[in-house]
Amino acid sequence: MNQHQKLKELKLRVYQANMQLEQRGLILYTFGNVSAIDRELQVIAIKPSGVPYSNLSADSIVLVDFQNRVIEGNLRPSSDTKTHLCLYQAYPELGGIAHTHSTYASIWAQAKRSIPCFGTTHADHIDGEIPCTEDLSSKQIQGDYELETGHQIVKRLKGLSPKKVEMILVASHGPFTWGPTPEKAVFNSVILEEICKTALYTSLLNPKSVTIQEELLKKHFERKHGSNAYYGQPS
Ligand SMILES: [Zn+2]
Repeated sequence: MNQHQKLKELKLRVYQANMQLEQRGLILYTFGNVSAIDRELQVIAIKPSGVPYSNLSADSIVLVDFQNRVIEGNLRPSSDTKTHLCLYQAYPELGGIAHTHSTYASIWAQAKRSIPCFGTTHADHIDGEIPCTEDLSSKQIQGDYELETGHQIVKRLKGLSPKKVEMILVASHGPFTWGPTPEKAVFNSVILEEICKTALYTSLLNPKSVTIQEELLKKHFERKHGSNAYYGQPS
């Protein structure tokens, strides 16, 4: 595949991933964005800024370089592009990133609460709590805000593996999720929303709810992600 075909394919995948977010009910109006990276070509494909999903097409996906300069496309890239770039640069294993303001994840983000692991649906995907960042400082808000949002995520993930923790809440804002591909990033946004919904109702039904037994958490995470994983079919 030549360079032109590779980038065309990347734009198509990013378009489809963005549409998935909307089809899964995680998006209102123009909120949210998905990107993907081609590390060999040092190019990121991302949703254009402020374009409704009904008007989106593979051709409207914007290509930017690592300095956030548009290299292909007539539209401005998502205003959150610098957050995406910051995460791609911090974590070489990332292939795709998704950002939404989905309802339940935003509720936890607005409450500035990390999500405790209450059950096996959560444990199937994350080995522990889903972190929430600290507040941005006044300097960060006044400065390069979107880049600083990325820095705040990196700061919170310190000591954690972005391969194991593929989702985070940005305080007072909403979730960012990622994965080796844009499709996995979107999948994680869908899963996160479900985890946030069930965790909220769990806390409401029993405010004294405690986290899942450590043994059960490990069992569920390891059977899907451990070295002896046995969930699903061998690939
Ligand atoms: Zn946002």
